[in-house]
Amino acid sequence: MTDPTLPEAFKSLRVLLVDDDWFVLDIVESMLRELGLFNIVRAQDGAEALGAIDIMAEPPQLLICDLNMPGMDGIQFFRHLAERWFEGGVILSSGSDMRLLKTVESLLIAHNLRFLGTLQKPIEEASLLNTILKLGVPEPAKEQEGLLQMLLPEEIEAGLQAGQLEVFVQPKVDIADRHVVGAECLARWRHPQRGLLQPDTFISVAEEFGLIDRLTLAVFHQAMHYLGAWAQLGHDLKLSVNVSMDSLMRLDLPEQLGGIAHEAGVAPQRVILEMTESRLMSHLATSLEVITRLRLKGFGLSIDDFGTGYSSMEKLKLLPFTELKIDRAFVFGAAEDAAARGILELSVQTGKALGMRIIAEGAETQQDWDLVAAVGCDEVQGYVVARPMPAELFIAWKNRWESQL
Ligand code: C2E
Ligand code: MG
Ligand code: MG
Repeated sequence: MTDPTLPEAFKSLRVLLVDDDWFVLDIVESMLRELGLFNIVRAQDGAEALGAIDIMAEPPQLLICDLNMPGMDGIQFFRHLAERWFEGGVILSSGSDMRLLKTVESLLIAHNLRFLGTLQKPIEEASLLNTILKLGVPEPAKEQEGLLQMLLPEEIEAGLQAGQLEVFVQPKVDIADRHVVGAECLARWRHPQRGLLQPDTFISVAEEFGLIDRLTLAVFHQAMHYLGAWAQLGHDLKLSVNVSMDSLMRLDLPEQLGGIAHEAGVAPQRVILEMTESRLMSHLATSLEVITRLRLKGFGLSIDDFGTGYSSMEKLKLLPFTELKIDRAFVFGAAEDAAARGILELSVQTGKALGMRIIAEGAETQQDWDLVAAVGCDEVQGYVVARPMPAELFIAWKNRWESQL
């Protein structure tokens, strides 16, 4: 008798496996592999799973989820899934008693989620197979579109009104003691048909069609709201917000940002404004006044993507910047790339000489972390710490990270 496996059409299925128990994750993953499924993402609780879904190019088609987990449990997680119009099949795996499971099943159905079945732990391969088959034959993967599909200016305008702009945050961690210093706000677009969109589909359009000021302010508003709420919970954090050069041409920007921060009860010293090096240097004459006044108001100022523009030492010395973010091109894999490593070291020296805090951006591996620590960077931001996550999940993530220190 040959081992049962899934039909060919199932084999590219995207699976998300959520359980707080590593042992269960390992066992179920190896069963799935035996059944012919290899496209598997694992998460240890609801918060991590949502973070994973939000950055996947295509959402998972199958979710196998535990109920009892520390942090965000299965029930809270299902509500978030429903809010994201999750369309994949859901399999519950649980050791809980049958009555509780029945309640959860009806909850899933009430949320309009596609409930496929419950598997009692320890899970058996045959029942796993049968439950997955209830999904029906999955649709073949969509053809990758050659061109990046940008939002239309009308969509941006209407979507800003409708609140489709969301703020994700990516943690920034102190290299010396691994404490969470704060996070960078990264804009995302919750498109009603296309799902969650990355900034490269809307930032440049917003800039081109004169909508970037509104977008900057919308992100800034949300950032101040979160920062104020976190401070009230006793978290001593800073938030960074990206400011487009186009917005720096507005002479009243310092008053506007200062006003919004003040209303939210946030001191400007807790806010860092990031500007990309390349555009900063080419528009310096017009923006210098605004930049200087932002600094006078107490905002931190950061040079983003450092190393990709052409800053002269003379100009750098002139600018009142407090932070330098070294571009990922000189961080990720730099240990094995002599030229990248050289630029990394030079950037650290330059920043230090000017009294700036040095952030290594885009560190993905332990090797990247070790290198940037060795050359004297102050903070790390990158996948080695965490991927960008919805801002509401940040404090739960921070608590978990710091409990492991
Ligand atoms: P950025 O400001 O340099 O942000 C860092 C980007 O690097 C983010 O991409 C982040 O997800 C990505 N990243 C972080 N760590 C890693 C890593 O370890 N590996 C890799 N491969 N990537 C990593 P994202 O979110 O797609 O943002 C792209 C750019 O869009 C940002 O670059 C920023 O220039 C712009 N942007 C994002 N939000 C806003 C905004 O609110 N306003 C403006 N004006 N620009 C924004
Ligand atoms: Mg940035
Ligand atoms: Mg950057």
